[in-house]
Amino acid sequence: MKRDCDTAIKPQRESLASRYAGRTVVAIGAHPDDLEIGIGGTLAKLQKAGAHVVMVVASVPKDFEVRMAEARLGAKILGCELRLLIDDGPRRIEDLKTCDLVGLLDGVINDYQPAVLLTHSSADFHNDHLLIYNACLPTQRLAHFDFFSYHPTNCRPVPIAFHPKAYVDVTDTIDAKMHAITAHKSQFGGRGLDTEMYREFAHVQGRMIGVPYAEGLDVVRMVLA
Ligand SMILES: [Zn+2]
Repeated sequence: MKRDCDTAIKPQRESLASRYAGRTVVAIGAHPDDLEIGIGGTLAKLQKAGAHVVMVVASVPKDFEVRMAEARLGAKILGCELRLLIDDGPRRIEDLKTCDLVGLLDGVINDYQPAVLLTHSSADFHNDHLLIYNACLPTQRLAHFDFFSYHPTNCRPVPIAFHPKAYVDVTDTIDAKMHAITAHKSQFGGRGLDTEMYREFAHVQGRMIGVPYAEGLDVVRMVLA
């Protein structure tokens, strides 16, 4: 049977939200603003659908009080709980031994027993992001949660080879995402940087699945019952 784009079968757009409704979602970003940029729309969507969403910020390298205030505001806009992983003041992730970083992340998994973990990807270009991704990988030994990676995050456009395997329709939460990104004034407005590229990028991702806005994810592990 002939089928054109307009009449093609549409994805079941609520499937991701319903998958984690009533369950705990843990999202991990190396720094304040990574989660808002990478998956702000997805986190807001999951929270609206009834998931308990925990935004874990691994470290604050400098300007601790300012960036923590921005992180709290970003999490509040998205309706998520905020947890700081290395919480003893300004720290760089590379200051920790890998085993200590994995130990902290193990603690997050044990505390929250998440149904899904979302974090940076192996395609990222920022060493702190790669350190977090690599330290998250061994936490999969603790429980059988789903594991997704989000698009490399950056304040300025950089060419990156990232190939999503799954897409989340964030049309209903794109405004919350944009609002949460602009909460990080020290990173954008304070440096004269524009945030509209994130809306434009979500629009391009949306075209992949026939919706106005989407966020792409790579699938590291997904348990299909
Ligand atoms: Zn970062």
